[in-house]
Amino acid sequence: MPTLGGALMSNKLNFYIFYRSMWYFVYLCRDMANGDEYVFNDKTLSYEVKKRSGLMRLMRIFLAVGGSVALAVLYMWIYTAVFGMELPKTQLLKKENAQWHSKVEVMNAKLDEYDRTLVALQHRDNDIYRSIFGMNEIPVEVRNAGFGGVNRYAHYDEVDPDGLLKRAAVRLDVLSKKTYVQSKSFDEISQLSHRAGEMASCIPAIPPMSPDRENYRISSSFGYRKDPFSKKTTKHNGVDFAMKQGNYLYATGDGVVESVKFERFGYGHHVIIDHGFGYKTRYAHMDMIGVVEGMKIKRGECIGTSGNTGKSSGPHLHYEVMYKGAYVNPANYYDLTISKEEYAAMVQEAADASQWVTLHPGNVRKAAKKKRRR
Ligand SMILES: [Zn+2]
Repeated sequence: MPTLGGALMSNKLNFYIFYRSMWYFVYLCRDMANGDEYVFNDKTLSYEVKKRSGLMRLMRIFLAVGGSVALAVLYMWIYTAVFGMELPKTQLLKKENAQWHSKVEVMNAKLDEYDRTLVALQHRDNDIYRSIFGMNEIPVEVRNAGFGGVNRYAHYDEVDPDGLLKRAAVRLDVLSKKTYVQSKSFDEISQLSHRAGEMASCIPAIPPMSPDRENYRISSSFGYRKDPFSKKTTKHNGVDFAMKQGNYLYATGDGVVESVKFERFGYGHHVIIDHGFGYKTRYAHMDMIGVVEGMKIKRGECIGTSGNTGKSSGPHLHYEVMYKGAYVNPANYYDLTISKEEYAAMVQEAADASQWVTLHPGNVRKAAKKKRRR
């Protein structure tokens, strides 16, 4: 802090005072050491040299040195405490310290900037990349994990009372951890994106039967409804397509037949297909089933025919889509506006490419061909 004293006493003046003091000290020492005393003699009316003893000389030297040291200390005290001046070395250190301080501050500002960039990346990751591939968002706790509890920055407290270094260290650690989590997430996405084509053919995407308006009507959609048996409001986990018995049903996406059940109650005769990527579909109240468990199946391949088995108040297909164990609205996984011709061409193509002879009507020809070849 500059004071009036500081302003008056420039470094030049300072040096001058110091320099003069040194000379004064040297003169004083010499005088104290040699200085014989001259005494006026009344009788001879002249000055006479009075020799001093060695001990006396030594004592005078000590006195001079001691006095000088005391003076120097006094001078330093006045210089630093009264005038509020700083020693050159202190000034230099303070300057260096200020430079470091501003450097760390600049670094902290940079870290803040990186943090903002990373937060933007995280949002894009959760909202776009991960949602495209149907991956769960990475929870905030996971992204920021491992920064509570034990104070592992305690050693900064001693050397860094204003916490500047500690803040920088914490920021750097948090950033490193977040960056690590983010890079892991991108790895996952990149792995999935290699399978994007596969994923597109696995996720349920077509109606489970020909979208021929004359053959079916939606008798019950997904969501809450009055149960036709108990008359209580219950959640309907699928879509009901009322249709005559014996309509061909098709797998709505590539997958593996997970289970084939012939039950007298509940779902009746039903098939569950596991499509991977978290998706499963269920086809219930069927009549005939033309697939077996463990069979690999392609979208559009016939799995059986519609029926009226199990808890059913009339012939219909109860179709469910499950995503990661939860029922989702199947209406979001098919497009009923495609033409029946388009649908017929697609399922025929699937039947032709199939390694199985399924129940699909076009397969009669294929089966006959296979028989002839034998
Ligand atoms: Zn139903």
